[in-house]
Amino acid sequence: KSKDRGGNVVAAYVASLHAQAEERRVMEQELRGALERGEFELYYQPVVTAADGTLNGFEALIRWTNHKLGNVSPGRFIPIAEDARLISPIGEWVLRTACHEAMKWPSNLKVAVNVSADQLTDPSFASVVVSALAQSGLSPQRLEIEVTESVFLRDGGGAAQLLDQLIGLGIRLSLDDFGTGYSSLGYLRKTQFSTIKVDRSFVVGAAKGSIESIAIIRAVVALADSLGMSTTAEGAETELEVETLRSFGCSNIQGYYYGRPMPASDVLTLFRRPDDVAIAAA
Ligand code: C2E
Ligand code: MG
Ligand code: MG
Ligand code: MG
Repeated sequence: KSKDRGGNVVAAYVASLHAQAEERRVMEQELRGALERGEFELYYQPVVTAADGTLNGFEALIRWTNHKLGNVSPGRFIPIAEDARLISPIGEWVLRTACHEAMKWPSNLKVAVNVSADQLTDPSFASVVVSALAQSGLSPQRLEIEVTESVFLRDGGGAAQLLDQLIGLGIRLSLDDFGTGYSSLGYLRKTQFSTIKVDRSFVVGAAKGSIESIAIIRAVVALADSLGMSTTAEGAETELEVETLRSFGCSNIQGYYYGRPMPASDVLTLFRRPDDVAIAAA
């Protein structure tokens, strides 16, 4: 009898593996035509100065609405796009779209774009960035490129060299999800990042009083300060989390507390002041 049950468990497991593989296959197939069908959209999430809540800019976050699969989160489809070698064209679209959109914002605001490790193995990436800036007219100082530590694992020094090229263009680099990956302080010596982004898991932990999370955030802030970098804490949802991050001296905060990722058109309405409306009505 117990043998039967074991057999059922195995059968269920095998079935779930099949279902996962099938889902992946469909997703990959749908991803192939998604750009041409215009299924991607960029949402933008505010990043504010921790001390006073003033707006610094927005992080561009991709959204995919597929005719068969509905909304698929980037956490699910980006790894599949990477495996299927589809990330470069998608990433290029993200970069061009974000630069173009940021030109409609007040010129003190920056735009941050996520770039996956695979995009940095393509030697033509720097020229794509140059072209996105030239075509949009965006000043390189307003563009921030976010990478994770995984970029350094891929190839022997190629990525670091490419990152140096980007810095040479006047672009800022952020190290995303810091503390969750293969954190090695050596990366911080190799590449001149402007900002370290502290992962949301530490933010949640610190506000709950986790000694480890508090120690890690404090250490990252101290390290960033002494290396002349700023810190952005990700995913602050509550006033307690915001107050905690402020007390630790984080430079910037990004999270639902200040604003969720929103469509480009919603960003533009933020800049339309009530005065303008009154003038238009008069
Ligand atoms: P990320 O770059 O670390 O982006 C931050 C994620 O945290 C976003 O998830 C954002 O919506 C979410 N977030 C922000 N504030 C809060 C908060 O207060 N609470 C909670 N619970 N979550 C918050 P999203 O948009 O689902 O993106 C997930 C990841 O997908 C990103 O993590 C990034 O690694 C990747 N991604 C998104 N857009 C792109 C893209 O255009 N290109 C590439 N290569 N990766 C992207
Ligand atoms: Mg990011
Ligand atoms: Mg992050
Ligand atoms: Mg993340």
